[in-house]
Amino acid sequence: MTSISAAGVVVVGGGQAGFSVASTLRASGYDDPVTVLAAEPHAPYQRPPLSKKVHAGPVRVELVPESFYRDRDIGLRLGDGVIAVDPAARTVLTRHGKRVSYEHLVLATGARNRPLPVPGAELPGVHALRSLDDALTIGRALTAARDVVVIGGGFIGLELARVALAGGARVTVVELAGRLLSRAVSAELEPSLRQRHEHAGVRILTGTAVRALEGEGRVERVVTEHGVLPADLVVYGIGAVPRDELARQAGLAVRDGVLVDEQLRSVTDPRVSAVGDCARHPHPRAAGPVRLESVQNAVDQGALVARRIAGAAAPYESLPWFWSDQGDVKLQIAGLRTSGDEVRVAPGDTAERLAAYAFRDDLLVAVETLNWPAEHLAARRTLQRGTPVSAADLSGTTLGALARAGRTAEVRR
Ligand SMILES: Cc1cc2nc3c(=O)[nH]c(=O)nc-3n(C[C@H](O)[C@H](O)[C@H](O)COP(=O)(O)OP(=O)(O)OC[C@H]3O[C@@H](n4cnc5c(N)ncnc54)[C@H](O)[C@@H]3O)c2cc1C
Repeated sequence: MTSISAAGVVVVGGGQAGFSVASTLRASGYDDPVTVLAAEPHAPYQRPPLSKKVHAGPVRVELVPESFYRDRDIGLRLGDGVIAVDPAARTVLTRHGKRVSYEHLVLATGARNRPLPVPGAELPGVHALRSLDDALTIGRALTAARDVVVIGGGFIGLELARVALAGGARVTVVELAGRLLSRAVSAELEPSLRQRHEHAGVRILTGTAVRALEGEGRVERVVTEHGVLPADLVVYGIGAVPRDELARQAGLAVRDGVLVDEQLRSVTDPRVSAVGDCARHPHPRAAGPVRLESVQNAVDQGALVARRIAGAAAPYESLPWFWSDQGDVKLQIAGLRTSGDEVRVAPGDTAERLAAYAFRDDLLVAVETLNWPAEHLAARRTLQRGTPVSAADLSGTTLGALARAGRTAEVRR
């Protein structure tokens, strides 16, 4: 076993959140060692582009050029994931047998795809998308596929459905729940979103369980409770689970994600922080600790932890926001909606634009928009400022119009 005496900050995971920690540490003047231990062989890259077009050949998705790490003295070690943490000794052990010591440890291990629990899920021609390597495999398969079945009507499934459709395939989305995006988007906005995908040519089967995938040597059909679908390519996206096993092994509190406080420190060990998809944190806009899977969350949480370590502590209270590009549909969400909120859908000034405003106790808490980036930006500004907006304030108008009239620029009234 080799020992590398890194100390300083050791980040486990070279994704969006891990990159944010390392780059913000240096931008904040931290000059002790910064080491990123990454399981993947690629330097930190963006995942969103992977599901928004076909990637059959080389693709540039890296966040920054390699010189960025050299110039800032960030130790980036690729292709050697961490397999154990020893909080008492303050060391981690990598798969290749390297022991690395830390002053602060940041877990930024992300999430993995929920496996598809049906017979035949391991057949060739069945894929899930998380990494750059997955995207290249799916991209190559898409160039030849005629009948594509997407299992799961979530963000990644719908994005991939539209990518496959644009490539000329027949596309069916099979969703177990009674509607698309049942956890992420309001029931009020969903019919319009569904109609746009169906209008474009995607066949959508909701309330439909997949029983098995079948084929001789590779997938040829999807057996659902309502019938059999021909398929030469199956892509599934049925949710993700946090990669919190290292924290669990280290004896840190875990509950579907590493449990952290408002400064993103493990509630068990303040020398360990967790950020991004793997962290469950108390958010002032949520009733209980939440785990969010978004670029905004990964970037902002990574930056907050880095600033705290560099000496500028602050609680985490960034406004959650998200986007998903599904063919000609741009879905954007600002704020956090919960199931009890009252939602009002309002048409935009053109036929493509639509907004759903969610109110709790008659105060705006979240806004979902279709093809309306200006209203999304107005929502982010309004919600971030904490300007109270009631359903009556928004009657017959938009957040953009209120802002232009100076009505959402006021401080809390
Ligand atoms: C296909 C796809 C499309 C998406 N599109 C959008 C979008 O449009 N908008 C949006 O806001 N969000 C989108 N997301 C979500 C967003 O990409 C994630 O929320 C974000 O990447 C989370 O950052 P992270 O650093 O927490 O995790 P990741 O970016 O997943 O990085 C975690 C890294 O840690 C590594 N790792 C895990 N365990 C270990 C270990 N033991 N040792 C070392 N390394 C380890 C993993 O290999 C991985 O590289 C998308 C995600 C996917 C997969």
